[in-house]
Amino acid sequence: MSYKELIEEVFQKVIKLENRGQLACYIPELAVVDSNKLGIHISTSSNFDFGIGDFEEKFSVQSIAKVFSLCLAYKMLGESIWTRVGLEPSGTGFNSLIQLDNDNGIPRNPFINSGALVISDILLSHLTDPKEDLLKFIRSLCKNQDINFSNKIAASEKSVGYRNIAMCNFIKSLGNINNEPEDVLDFYFDLCSLELSCKQLSEAFLFLSNKGKTTHDDNQILTKSQNKRINALLQTCGFYDESGDFAFRVGLPGKSGVGGGIIAIHPNEYAIAVWSPKLNSKGNSYRGMKFLEEFTTLSELSIF
Ligand code: GLN
Repeated sequence: MSYKELIEEVFQKVIKLENRGQLACYIPELAVVDSNKLGIHISTSSNFDFGIGDFEEKFSVQSIAKVFSLCLAYKMLGESIWTRVGLEPSGTGFNSLIQLDNDNGIPRNPFINSGALVISDILLSHLTDPKEDLLKFIRSLCKNQDINFSNKIAASEKSVGYRNIAMCNFIKSLGNINNEPEDVLDFYFDLCSLELSCKQLSEAFLFLSNKGKTTHDDNQILTKSQNKRINALLQTCGFYDESGDFAFRVGLPGKSGVGGGIIAIHPNEYAIAVWSPKLNSKGNSYRGMKFLEEFTTLSELSIF
């Protein structure tokens, strides 16, 4: 079966399932998203692409954006970033504070909120115009200028961001934030507010399935070794304390966000993005997980 036929078949199956879970109600703007949305888009390293459902509609990618900021910091500063953030699955929720005290403010990995705050701090220290430079980087990955932050979503999250505010101040007190927490948090909330469609997401992430090189202009974004390492981290830490389950059920490196998006990478094959806003109890898209599980089962293709 072709990828197109597989995606059509799994889409029909998943759309008939009960749409379980909850919207990310802790961010007011995300509580009013249409929960029936379902979009999928695949981009392959051999230049095939296909989408179905709401694949062209932009949505709040939230934590998926943490991969962009990490890749930019890694590209700029190389291995030195790992002195500030760890490489281990946390086994806790994405917004947990509990390990930071014991770990002296070194977050377990770059994909939990604490890790993404530290990566944001690193970028603030090294970019001249952090927000614009980040946008430029993401736009260059998919050769698409139409990618922006959402001021509305960033302001909405900031208005209730008590936990992230506490976390950033706590890490500062432990010596692992160099800039003013308020500036780091502003950048972090903007980062999480990025809006991309499934099509844009799969195009922007395709370089990770192509040994670190963009397919549209052969730009080596990460070295092959760095690329392997990002995929390894996505595999072990991309779904917080559901990362083991995702590896077990889907078998691909990937990253989720509380906007209901999931990006998954099949090295040397494809990047696939799924969007369905309702989340399971671990904060990962309920139907997104179902779709990808069925997709890799039916295609009999995973990294394992
Ligand atoms: N902006 C969200 C937060 O900080 C991102 C969380 C997520 O997508 N898992 O809570």
